[in-house]
Amino acid sequence: SRAQVVVIGGGYGGATAARYVRLLSEGKVDVVLVEPQPRFVSCPVSNLVLSGLRQLSDITSPYDTLVSRHGVTWVRDSASRLDTAAKTVTLAGGSSLRYDTLVVSPGVELLFDEIAGLRAAHASGQVLQAWKAGPETAALRRQLEAMPDGGVYAISVPESPYRCPPGPYERASVIAAYFQRAKPKSKVLILDANPDVTSKPALFKKAWAELYPGMVEYRPLHKVVAVEGQRIRIEVQDDVRADVLNLLPPMRANSIAAESGLMNAGRWCKVDWLTFESTAAKDVHVLGDAVLAAGGMPKSAHMANAHAKVAAAAIVARLRGEPVNPHPMLTNTCYSHVGDTSAIHVASVHEYVAAEATFKPVPGSGGVSVQRNEAEAAFAAGWARNIWADTLG
Ligand code: FAD
Repeated sequence: SRAQVVVIGGGYGGATAARYVRLLSEGKVDVVLVEPQPRFVSCPVSNLVLSGLRQLSDITSPYDTLVSRHGVTWVRDSASRLDTAAKTVTLAGGSSLRYDTLVVSPGVELLFDEIAGLRAAHASGQVLQAWKAGPETAALRRQLEAMPDGGVYAISVPESPYRCPPGPYERASVIAAYFQRAKPKSKVLILDANPDVTSKPALFKKAWAELYPGMVEYRPLHKVVAVEGQRIRIEVQDDVRADVLNLLPPMRANSIAAESGLMNAGRWCKVDWLTFESTAAKDVHVLGDAVLAAGGMPKSAHMANAHAKVAAAAIVARLRGEPVNPHPMLTNTCYSHVGDTSAIHVASVHEYVAAEATFKPVPGSGGVSVQRNEAEAAFAAGWARNIWADTLG
């Protein structure tokens, strides 16, 4: 009978894996994608929805092409239980799927309970995260639009590692750009649990000083521990008040990974880097943000897409009884908008080092932009179009 690969999660890792297993097997392996959301909504570029330069529809794509062009079977449901011994996935709707190989790319879980009061404040719609793009992105945009001129928008950054190292700083930057256009007496406050800006610190700080003098305030080592109304409590500091609170709690691998025993490295999942096979379960491959990263590997869409291609090649090789590629490579580029028309980037290349059984950055590869400029913003738009095409076909 034909081999069947089941993929849990149709985000950057899962959708790419589904597409590449179909491509690399030349349609000879059946792929079932389990994803409850009706459409793919991209986190990359979602900060520009908050600044008003893009609409939610600009970052939303259908899953149709994976189905019609690539022959992926899409089951619009969520996985509720994995039985890695029986090799079955139980769906929330009650049915179950058998697999020969399972791919798990469910993204992150936001740990609301690590900030006192946050779960209730989020449930009531008062404090949003918008760290999974979709309706919350639009809701946060509405909060920013409703904020009076002279108000304060506060974003908190959890301790690393978290999804998208530069994401909070890009968000702070483009919201400052919006304030400058629409409500110039307003302020952006960044409360960072980390000792410094996690990604491209010099470039971000230069942009804030030069583009938004007096508007963006950055406070390192400010760990948010509680929220009460519009007040934010910070470990060993005075409370602060803000009008729009965008509190990002600590993160871990999504619950389906956690509850099925795949989260075997603290808050993340450990994999064999040659294949992305879980070290906790045979024939189960974990991708994307849920994975415990190797040196210098960010939790990014670009990385999840790269993980997926290495895993898909290994899965198809194994199903054919062929050896897996002994020297996989991964690349990453993260563009960040710092203004309405300017952006910066960080790039890296990672190679599998057999002697240490891990990925390491290739010395001399990658680096950061020399300076922000308009060309980088155009490259960022091109990057997004390309990754959407590569992920969704
Ligand atoms: P996701 O893309 O989140 O996909 C997970 C999918 O799994 C979701 O569709 C979810 O519905 C589904 N799922 C969850 N649980 C289940 C279940 N039980 N059953 C079935 N399905 C399930 N990265 C970049 O490279 N460049 C950028 O410019 C960039 N900008 C960003 C900006 C922001 C504001 C944010 C928040 C992130 C940004 N990222 C960026 C990071 C990027 O979005 C993530 O790293 C990427 O989405 C990770 O892919 P993933 O497959 O691990 O998870």
